[in-house]
Amino acid sequence: MHAEIIAVGSELLDEPRPDTNSPFLAQVLRSIGYRLVRQSILPDDLAMLASALRDACSRSAVVICCGGLGSTADDCTVDAAAMALGSPPVPDSRAEKRLRKWLRLRRRRITKLHLRQTRRIASAAWLPNRLGTAWGQWCPTPRGCLVLLPGPPRELQPLVAESLLPRLAANLGHACATRVLSIAGMTETEVEAAAAPIYSRHANLRTTILALGEPHVELHFHAWAHAASSAQRRADRLARAIERRLGSAVFSRQRASLASVVGRLLRARNQTLAVAESCTGGLLGQRLTADAGASDYFLGGVVAYSNAAKHSLLGVPASTLARWGAVSASTAIAMAAGVRLQFGASWGVSITGIAGPGGGVPAKPVGTVFVGLAPPQGPARAVRLRLAGDRAQIRNHSAQTALNLLRLALLGIPKRR
Ligand code: AMP
Ligand code: MG
Repeated sequence: MHAEIIAVGSELLDEPRPDTNSPFLAQVLRSIGYRLVRQSILPDDLAMLASALRDACSRSAVVICCGGLGSTADDCTVDAAAMALGSPPVPDSRAEKRLRKWLRLRRRRITKLHLRQTRRIASAAWLPNRLGTAWGQWCPTPRGCLVLLPGPPRELQPLVAESLLPRLAANLGHACATRVLSIAGMTETEVEAAAAPIYSRHANLRTTILALGEPHVELHFHAWAHAASSAQRRADRLARAIERRLGSAVFSRQRASLASVVGRLLRARNQTLAVAESCTGGLLGQRLTADAGASDYFLGGVVAYSNAAKHSLLGVPASTLARWGAVSASTAIAMAAGVRLQFGASWGVSITGIAGPGGGVPAKPVGTVFVGLAPPQGPARAVRLRLAGDRAQIRNHSAQTALNLLRLALLGIPKRR
């Protein structure tokens, strides 16, 4: 079946910014069995885009158009698609509801411009976008379909893996089965190196590795076959083989968060947890309390930012702070042991580090973070992390790594980082 790709965005032509979506989409299409016959880049120009979409839809069974779904006036892909298909965009009240909720959660107000993103081609089905407000659309055409996708690659790629690929496979008459493995403590490249020798041996499947902010990687794979049962068998077989290879790095098959996996492990052991945070300022506690019912295992936390707070609230000895500094293994250990004692918890976890942008010194550059773990039995210990990125990334990575270290400790698995 013939397919074509249209990347939309004046910036892709003027600046020029590299069009990375088209090669990604081309690979997806080819891997399922479509024949890619044309690729083009167009500016955000309503008349030009409408005419290009009309031509493409009259030529090819599948037309994938990415970009121009933003809320600003220069984004005109939905209007162009409506003109090309002769079907005006309709306001969708369910889409508006979901957009209002998304913005409310982020403490943002809805504006008239936002509402542009709730307009749907009348005959189209939404393709959900987990990471943004611009959802994709699957619009039937006389020859097949026109697919509209958001431009930002970090939104487009998960959307393709989760919503589009199964539809594209079904469109070719394949039954498609999808499996997702959530992985922590490995980079995208390490996951690829470990998994590729396994999945490259199999035909009729496609894998996508999504980096969802360190240290969290998702491995999606889709297997297809004539019958649903054989697609499922194939996907299961591959999931098991990759899981065996990746071992304890796989923390969920149901896309659970690291915090809820930790919660489940604590609950199963009838154990409790308290946390002491410095540079993450409560992020770890926030994640641990995201799930309802966290009170079964989470007792509380202390944000001890100053040395004085570390000393008075957590009992970190003044001599430890003076000798080793607030960002040190000894302080992390004392914080974890201190918070465990204060709360009477089974486990104490601590985080202390330099999130930047200032505050680094040669021996402890920005990104130096210590995670302390005080277990129910035995001595507390600390792990030194060397993290990269900006302040937000370092804080996020620290909280996730602390959760992963706790998960591994709960499973009794020694960990390198
Ligand atoms: P848009 O959906 O047009 O509002 O796109 C938003 C942003 O996504 C743009 O500013 C680009 O940074 C990025 N983007 C859009 N199209 C592409 C593309 N084809 N390849 C890579 N990045 C893109
Ligand atoms: Mg654009």
